[in-house]
Amino acid sequence: MHERIDEATFVQSMAQTLMRELASGAAVSSIPPITDAARDAHHASQNSVTTPFPEAATGWAETDAAIHRLLSQLTFAYPISAPTHLHAPAAPLAGYRRDFPILQRHVHGKPLIWFDNAATSQKPQAVIDAISNFYTHHNANIHRGNHHLSQQASAMFDAVRDRVATFIQAPSAANIVFVRGTTEGINFIANTFGECQIHAGDEVLVSQLEHHSNILPWQKLCQQKNAILRVIPIDQQGDILLEDYQALLSKKTKLVAISHVSNVIGTLLPVQEMIALAHHQGAYVVLDGAQSIPHLPINVTALDCDFFVFSGHKMYGPTGVGVVYGKQHLLESLPPWQVGGGMIQHVTFTESRYAQSPQRFEAGTASIADVIGLGAAIDYLQSIGMATIQHAEQQLMAYAVAQLEQVPKLRLIAAPRHRIGALPFIIEGVTLEDLARHLDQAGIALRIGHHCAQPALAFFNQQRVARASFGLYNTPAEIDQLTRVLLRCNYSDGYSGK
Ligand code: PLP
Repeated sequence: MHERIDEATFVQSMAQTLMRELASGAAVSSIPPITDAARDAHHASQNSVTTPFPEAATGWAETDAAIHRLLSQLTFAYPISAPTHLHAPAAPLAGYRRDFPILQRHVHGKPLIWFDNAATSQKPQAVIDAISNFYTHHNANIHRGNHHLSQQASAMFDAVRDRVATFIQAPSAANIVFVRGTTEGINFIANTFGECQIHAGDEVLVSQLEHHSNILPWQKLCQQKNAILRVIPIDQQGDILLEDYQALLSKKTKLVAISHVSNVIGTLLPVQEMIALAHHQGAYVVLDGAQSIPHLPINVTALDCDFFVFSGHKMYGPTGVGVVYGKQHLLESLPPWQVGGGMIQHVTFTESRYAQSPQRFEAGTASIADVIGLGAAIDYLQSIGMATIQHAEQQLMAYAVAQLEQVPKLRLIAAPRHRIGALPFIIEGVTLEDLARHLDQAGIALRIGHHCAQPALAFFNQQRVARASFGLYNTPAEIDQLTRVLLRCNYSDGYSGK
């Protein structure tokens, strides 16, 4: 049994130690040494999940607030933003939280806080119901049956193609190819368009910020074709160096493959400008929209990208479905990738004719229920409005940055001009494993690792980082809770020397 936490003693002892150090002129470069009371408090907090002290969490919230106040006074010791930054923005989308049943659950006795949205988002009841409703009432294979259910299922499936086109402002449903996700979509483009268009000596540009899914297909293609993969550099803020990009572009550049939003740094790339510059040199552009589609209104027509790819599961839809948008004349020019049922006009043993795009690229039975679920996710997002989501998330990100900057020894990785969705950080002196454990125990789901973007992290001299990533249902109160837990684990691990 642990002693009951004495928060007041803990805060007081911290204050005294800090003040003593400051008075002696010592630089407060490290967390002050632990007192016995603080060590007990740390152990009790670690055990608070299963301990006989369920009230510990509230007690610690007060303790953390006191630490916070204390630190705010020591602005000369730590880089702490002005208190005005601490005013939480409104949470205009908080009402939508009730649409996500999983957000009602608890993890380790604490309300779930989902900050792993860049990996996958949670699903609203409308999406869950759409999938369940399809299997309960309409299940049939599509485009191959004359019976009632097949016709219903086909109509439901085809209607989603229209809705996707409207959602991303593509000219028509003919521009939309269903795939399993972003990774499959980029591989599809590399294996069809890349296969036809890239030749020995050609250059393919990717940015330093790319997810492995937007590096490896191009690396493999370039190796096969004796083409050259070049990297668009970034600056220390995590922004694209536009002049360097421009200098890299030449008549040899056949393709530019870039993220719209980086999954690890959160950088919003200046894609409109980058696409125009690429086109000026006669190069095509593939935009990886995996991390922009849940956060921004997308208009592929205005962007003028040649391809745009995204996954359903990152935009509140199901796993197993994604989309490739392609300009129509490009799609029509492409050979099939996978061949089999559902993509033919006529087959003989000596010769076969394939269906028109987009069916030509959808061999085999599609993930029909997931496509229906994607349609429901689009309806859901449209009912809120992407501009509304973008605005609310911008406020939330600004608040998260300001709050995390208050945590001593926490280092945000990069500082791009426009940061969307993802906020990577480390805390000096605290291992990522300890960090993840503390957060998990507090019910906060947040990912540590390389986030499938090793070259991007290597640029910032990191192999692995923690990443908080936000979605429409996240609130300033959840950010506050993250900050509290980070303050606590910062101190406790600092003290114990881990
Ligand atoms: N591209 C980016 C920018 C991503 O963030 C991800 C996934 O995190 C992918 C591609 C791959 O997406 P998926 O795993 O859904 O194929």
